[in-house]
Parts: sequence; C-alpha cells; structure tokens
Amino acid sequence: MVLLAATAVSVNAQVSTKWPQHSMDRPQPPVVTPGPFVSVAPPSDAIVLFDGRSLANWSSTQRPGEAAKWKVADRYMEVVANTGAIETKQAFGDVQLHIEWRAPTPPKGESQERGNSGVFLMGRYEVQVLDSYHNVTYPDGQAGAVYGQFPPLVNASRPPGEWQTYDIVFHRPRFDAEGKVTRPARMTVVHNGVLVQDNVELSGPTAHQERPPYSQHPDALPLMLQDHGNPVRFRNIWVRKLE
Ligand code: MG
Repeated sequence: MVLLAATAVSVNAQVSTKWPQHSMDRPQPPVVTPGPFVSVAPPSDAIVLFDGRSLANWSSTQRPGEAAKWKVADRYMEVVANTGAIETKQAFGDVQLHIEWRAPTPPKGESQERGNSGVFLMGRYEVQVLDSYHNVTYPDGQAGAVYGQFPPLVNASRPPGEWQTYDIVFHRPRFDAEGKVTRPARMTVVHNGVLVQDNVELSGPTAHQERPPYSQHPDALPLMLQDHGNPVRFRNIWVRKLE
C-alpha cells in the first residue's frame, strides 16, 4: 500500500492534442437537461462578492481604481457593453466559487455572439459564459468550457432568460522560485448541478486562438467578469477560500 501511494501519478485530464483549438469538427458535447433550478445561499464562511444590491466589492478594469460601471437592478448585475470587464477588489487563490448567470432573452446573435461573458479565475483562467441553448459554437468555447482548452463534458444549458449556476473549484498554479510551474492550475465545474469539468489541468492562461504558456503571477489575484458586449446578468456570487 505504501509503495502504491508513493508511486501514484496524477491522472488529471489534459488538453487534447487530437483536436486543434476551437475545432468545429470536434463532437458537440451531449445535451443534458438539468433538474429544476436550485440556488445555493452562501455558507457561514463564504465571502459574499455580490448580494444583489451594490457593486461595492468590484472595480472597473478599464479604468483601474474606478467603480464598476455595470448596471445593478432587482438583485442582479448586468454587463453594460463597452464599460469593460469588472474585477473584485479582493484577491483570491484557491477557491470554491458559486455564481449565477442569465443569458439575454430574446436571444440575439449566433455562436460566440450570443450571451457571451466569462468568469475569469485570477483574471486569467476563464470558464466560458455563453448562451449554449440551441446555439452551436466550437465545443471548447461553449458554456462550461475552460475557454479554448476543455469543452464541457455535457451541455447542461438552460434556455436564455433562465437563471443558471456555476459551482467551481479552482486550484491556482504553483511556481518555484525561478517562476517555473511546479503544479498547473486545476478546475472542476458544475453547471446547473451537472459536472462539466472534472478536475482538468489547465495548459496555461485561457486565450482566443492561442494557448499561451504559464507566466508567474502572485498567489492571489482578483476574480474577473467579462464584458463581451452582451447584457448577461449575474447574481448571488460568493467564494470560499481554500487556502
Ligand atoms: Mg467569454
């Protein structure tokens, strides 16, 4: 037993070498209809990042130091196009994150132009937010994808206009003193109660039409939400620190 434990190797899923990034030939993830919507209220040790009332915990990334310019109404926040991404004032490393989002209705646009936003752990590792209900795009860019790296295991999307949940477990990359990666970032994502990313190992920061290598960064960085020009809504955002 001791020997087995000592020789155990990591079996985390790695980025596929079989399909080019953003391949449309890659099989579409099977569609799974999630069960009824369930919100998860923040537990006692959670840090509430958005309680539906104000963007006090967020700032603009377009104008550093300035308040976030997104709309707040009726217990949600909404992307205001061209005001830029917003990020938390607080920085985080390993976290459990709960976030609820809603794609615009009626749906407008196709593929990547429909209900696009994103949840960026540490401002650089994106879980894609997209209206992927009857909206085909490249699998590594649909809802629940680790953008450009891992398609979701299944498509558990709800229709536009309905609230959806992400529950994310994120472990940041570790670097040695020289800035070399000693352990890649890892992500587990549950979309509407359905597992869509199973402890995948990220190849580096997420990006469009490239897979950049890791570059050393601090152990804690803000959580960022993307302005992709679509009025996506968010609510009930909380994190639990795991380190
Ligand atoms: Mg996005």
